[in-house]
Amino acid sequence: MAGVLTVAGTAVAPGTRVRAAIEVRGCGYAVRMPVTVINGRGDGPVAAVIAGLHGAEYPCIETTIRLARRLDPHQVRGALIIVHVVNEPAFYGRTAYVNPLDGLNPNRVFPGSATGSISERMVRRVWEDVIAPADYLIDLHGGDIVEALVPFAAYTPSGNAAVDDVARRMAWAYGIPRVLEAEIPGSSMLAAARAGKPAVLAEAGGGGLLDEPSVATLLEGTERALAVAGVLPAAGVPSVSIGTPTKMIWHRAAHQGMFYPSIKVGDRVERGQVLGRICDVYGDVLTEVRSEASGDIIFLVTCPPVSPGDPLLAVGGT
Ligand SMILES: [Zn+2]
Repeated sequence: MAGVLTVAGTAVAPGTRVRAAIEVRGCGYAVRMPVTVINGRGDGPVAAVIAGLHGAEYPCIETTIRLARRLDPHQVRGALIIVHVVNEPAFYGRTAYVNPLDGLNPNRVFPGSATGSISERMVRRVWEDVIAPADYLIDLHGGDIVEALVPFAAYTPSGNAAVDDVARRMAWAYGIPRVLEAEIPGSSMLAAARAGKPAVLAEAGGGGLLDEPSVATLLEGTERALAVAGVLPAAGVPSVSIGTPTKMIWHRAAHQGMFYPSIKVGDRVERGQVLGRICDVYGDVLTEVRSEASGDIIFLVTCPPVSPGDPLLAVGGT
């Protein structure tokens, strides 16, 4: 990128940081997504950093706030487009997983639709205004308001070896020992990978909390990933060590009732081990949840009511 960069109708001169907004109207709603654009002085790539596709994941949103405030435009080579909260209705509505306006999970409808429901329209604008003009995507998440989680990073193989090499190094640059190779239908990461862009997802925190260790994990990791992408200087950044990718095995509820886990997030478990039970609201046991794999508990639903198909937990193993 060289020269003036225009994002969502706002022109950003080289060497400046400008606040903008993506406004989406349709289906009887008006939604506003806050954006910061940092246009560097020199030529270079454009990176998109987005957070709050799930609006109750606060450490990732805080990460984008601090990143936008602390980066000096003169440090940036190319440009950074940061969306602080995509799913603003869920953010102010304290809603897990979905956009409360239409009940859709925004990270399952990429690349969106200009004529669809409000989540699809919002995602379409994020795609057109932020991700499509970028060379790299970083999508920040965490455990949702009903989940505890240990940090992980992920990337989606694109089929292009050069793109995948960069995405893999960006994911491992977070310094988190769990990196997944994941293909999540309708996710920002899959849509970006299919468009030939190195794309990563990083998750930390959960339970509706804003905690400093999770913010530090995401903020420092994002700066290292941006250094791998060439948008921030690589000087002083430790070299990235690549390990074995982790597989994530989701476990879902088979019944409606109260979920009583018998393990904590981060615990080591063995295949076949009882991880908890679901009881009806009279206390009768409906089912025991047994581990389908050996590994670590990566996320765990900590809010008791569950319905068939709801996620309960995921085991990460290699
Ligand atoms: Zn999320």
